[in-house]
Amino acid sequence: MAVSMSCKGCGKTLFTGREVIEPYYIRAKNNSRCPSCGRNLAKTPMSIQLDLLTIAH
Ligand SMILES: [Zn+2]
Repeated sequence: MAVSMSCKGCGKTLFTGREVIEPYYIRAKNNSRCPSCGRNLAKTPMSIQLDLLTIAH
């Protein structure tokens, strides 16, 4: 299973991995800002997608 988190503002993928991690980790890693559009991630919700189809890869 793959997990991806993206900025709700611009759709930039901020994290892709195999395990769910805490959103605060993403914020800390990016200085609380989206590297693409500069939005404050503390105020901009991130979308989290679980891709069950990739389990076969
Ligand atoms: Zn963004």
